[in-house]
Amino acid sequence: MDHFLYRNGSLHAEDVPVSEIAAAVGAPFYLYSTATLLRHFQLFDDALEPMPHLVCYAMKAASNQAILKTLGDAGAGMDVVSGGEYLRAKAAGVAGEKIVFSGVGKTRDEVRLALTGGIRQFNVESEPEMRVISEVAVSLGVDAPITIRVNPDVDAKTHAKIATGKSENKFGIPISRAREVYAEAAKLPGLKVIGIDVHIGSQLTELAPFEAAYLKVAELTEILRADGHDITRLDLGGGLGIPYTRSNEAPPLPTDYGALIQRTVGHLGCEIEIEPGRLIAGNAGILVSRVIYVKEGEDRRFLILDAAMNDLIRPAMYDAYHDIIPVQEPAAATEPATYDIVGPVCESGDTFAKGREMPPVGEGDLVAFRSAGAYGAVMSSEYNTRPLIPEVMVHGDQFAVIRPRPTFDEIINRDTLPAWL
Ligand SMILES: *Cc1c(COP(=O)(O)O)cnc(C)c1O
Repeated sequence: MDHFLYRNGSLHAEDVPVSEIAAAVGAPFYLYSTATLLRHFQLFDDALEPMPHLVCYAMKAASNQAILKTLGDAGAGMDVVSGGEYLRAKAAGVAGEKIVFSGVGKTRDEVRLALTGGIRQFNVESEPEMRVISEVAVSLGVDAPITIRVNPDVDAKTHAKIATGKSENKFGIPISRAREVYAEAAKLPGLKVIGIDVHIGSQLTELAPFEAAYLKVAELTEILRADGHDITRLDLGGGLGIPYTRSNEAPPLPTDYGALIQRTVGHLGCEIEIEPGRLIAGNAGILVSRVIYVKEGEDRRFLILDAAMNDLIRPAMYDAYHDIIPVQEPAAATEPATYDIVGPVCESGDTFAKGREMPPVGEGDLVAFRSAGAYGAVMSSEYNTRPLIPEVMVHGDQFAVIRPRPTFDEIINRDTLPAWL
């Protein structure tokens, strides 16, 4: 459920007409709903209620300061994957004790940054990384709390580019080698081994792969405890999918996911962490764009929008589907039209949808891409010297620009000329 609904014939974000924001800000732009963000965080928090837990928002999904502060103030921790994300989380007021550091290639500088500023734990992804964390911790005279990310070799049944839990993926250490690696970790100075981490992929639409992975983690917990390790925390990753099409079967609900966690690892008495990104931010954001032209091709009709692949790359990169709806509500009996929906960038890949049926729209009309809150703005670029589009947030009947559109001068002046020119 989200808070982008038609009211009095026009799409609203909470209590604000989207067209009013477009008039103030100019299309295209991303638009987030505070109520939706908070609702999704709360669903997870409630689902884990019976267990000691922390919901760490995977901020790579959408990392604007306003989003982080909204969630952080509600009690969320953060899952970060770079030094930049760590600093963003801190800048939004999230305490180091609520930040977990994931990612396969943490550098010495990033480890030092987090150890100096405070960190809940590092999720270690390899033995060389483990040794680096040990080294940096010793040099700073502190202990680094760590979990080790195990790769459970389960098929997440999702798009190949976002599956991470198969043995062929670059993530974590093979679960079959876990005892050996934990034994080494226990011997290294400066490390405090506290738990196990697993994350098998993104946009999972079934619970079965989670169940397979979590059962393996439960078994490993018992084994590692028998080996003498003090396993008190389980980080179970993110990955729960969202409905991108209204016709699709609905993915599992956070309540069912919480019940699954309780059933598979609840008896171990560990503190539970989860790292949802997409499910918190995905349906909490839309991309609003204006139709530049309707172009009649030989055998098809093109809808040319002012948003492009540089603003929302998911369709080009993951073959992702986004519902695209008119901001002005169509009359009940309107016959759909069929369009290839494209952006102005000079690449054939700049296609949002082919042969898409939707209510007819014309030049100058606004459309909204639903479910664009996660992996949208954060993956945008200025390809074709198209300025990063603004991000806007609504809260009840208020809205605010939370990242303004840069001017062309700002973009051009970011470049510097070498001395010889
Ligand atoms: C990307 C990622 C997440 C979030 O995944 P979602 O599918 O957005 O929930 C969580 N943990 C790690 C380690 C990740 O890389």
